[in-house]
Amino acid sequence: MARERLYLFDTTLRDGAQMNGVDFTLADKLTIARLLDELGVDYVEAGYPGANPTDTSFFAERRPLKAQLTAFGMTRRPGRSASNDPGLVALLDAQADAICFVAKSWDYHVRVALETTEEENLASIRDSVRAAKARGREVLLDCEHFFDGYKSKPAFAVACAKAAYDEGARWVVLCDTNGGTLPHEVERIVAAVCAKTPGDHVGIHAHNDTEQAVANSFAAVRAGARQIQGTLNGLGERCGNANLVSIIPTLKLKAEYADRFEIGVSDEALGRLARVSHTLDELLNRAADRHAPYVGESAFATKAGIHASAIVKEPATYEHVAPERVGNRRKLLVSDQGGRSNVLAELDRIGLAVDKNDPRLGRLLDEVKEREAIGYAYEAADASFELLARRLLGRVPHYFDVEKFDVNVEKRNNAKGEPVTVSQAVVKLKVGEEVVISVAEGIGPVNALDLALRKDLGKYQSFITGLELTDYRVRILNGGTQAVTRVLIESTDETGDRWTTVGVSPNIIDASFQALMDSIVYKLVKSGAPA
Ligand SMILES: [Zn+2]
Repeated sequence: MARERLYLFDTTLRDGAQMNGVDFTLADKLTIARLLDELGVDYVEAGYPGANPTDTSFFAERRPLKAQLTAFGMTRRPGRSASNDPGLVALLDAQADAICFVAKSWDYHVRVALETTEEENLASIRDSVRAAKARGREVLLDCEHFFDGYKSKPAFAVACAKAAYDEGARWVVLCDTNGGTLPHEVERIVAAVCAKTPGDHVGIHAHNDTEQAVANSFAAVRAGARQIQGTLNGLGERCGNANLVSIIPTLKLKAEYADRFEIGVSDEALGRLARVSHTLDELLNRAADRHAPYVGESAFATKAGIHASAIVKEPATYEHVAPERVGNRRKLLVSDQGGRSNVLAELDRIGLAVDKNDPRLGRLLDEVKEREAIGYAYEAADASFELLARRLLGRVPHYFDVEKFDVNVEKRNNAKGEPVTVSQAVVKLKVGEEVVISVAEGIGPVNALDLALRKDLGKYQSFITGLELTDYRVRILNGGTQAVTRVLIESTDETGDRWTTVGVSPNIIDASFQALMDSIVYKLVKSGAPA
């Protein structure tokens, strides 16, 4: 039987960005958009052009994605024409494939918040959809507070959805904006809407205020909706939005949905899901939820004892899906079989295939385990893992030694008598027989150290000219009685490759130094610099 297409609409960069403590830069947004595109979502809603400088610059140029890049904004204001509403004009000018309008669909809100009539609200929906269609955009309408609106005045709520659909909107999206609707209500109301508007034009946008945003999304699909809106890791205002990281594997791995529906996420992309989820956490500089369904570190962890021996014999005895399907791993505290096969697969991937009985493999596993126990994070720091593996397997040339470094932070008055803080680093390197001393000033001590380290690498300098640091993240970990600092550095080079390195120390400069060194050595290895 042919499966029906179900569409995924991601709003991490719009609704997700409204979460407390989430503040995406333009670079973050571009990184996440790319991540979502590789994952295979159908729509990436990237923001609200005109509302803030980041979103405006995001939509100022064409951002080539496979997904429909979607701009969000309001329908025309009451009492104005579409061409005479600056907000709407900015939205229509945005470099986007699709436009998602938000409009009231609760009579109470129309009266109290908009202070206008129901007729004018419907006219605003029609005019806005028409204007966006005329500009060649695919159009979606988010019906704000739809479920509360339906409970208050069903005919009006449905008329709002219908107005957009009749005018040619590809999707009308029923939003549980307050997040208080329960799954059985969602199922009943979505079914009623789908009786009037074809379900393959109906979407669901659920918030998590009763911890049921994912369940509400599935309830809507059961009732006929064919688009699910959500965010990575359930980011979003208040308690968050429906979590696509939980929805995607359920759609792909549970027969109830997998047999009936097809989504844009391939099996191979599903296998990277845990990585995608953790990448977002790293970008936000927050610890990943260990207990997150499917992707959490503990999602497939089984304690020692009878469970563990049973799970080794037959994983299905204790696992509802195979962890590898979502890029996670089985964790057993008695033997690290999962770790071994993961590491073997990773070594294979980076071209360092070793025999599974090679004693060096055991040493590498022990080393990773020991280092992770003191705070290193190799899952996030792919390049540091690769260097560790290459070192243990004896395949990293000895490029240079750092004989010493010195970092100095000084607060003083400048020539105009104003207080300034100046950071300066001095690095003494030995490159072959050559001794190189470099001095650099930077915005802060780490920046100064980075500049000094990369200023002169002697005969290797030409190999690192394209190296650039793109991100620097610090987390204080509580390792027993003493706090340690973990630094993750993301680098890129002239080929567009990106890699992450890690350093751990009680001293932040030292942790940063380790991560900087790994990045430089990784770049030298990658560029094939001779020993
Ligand atoms: Zn929302």
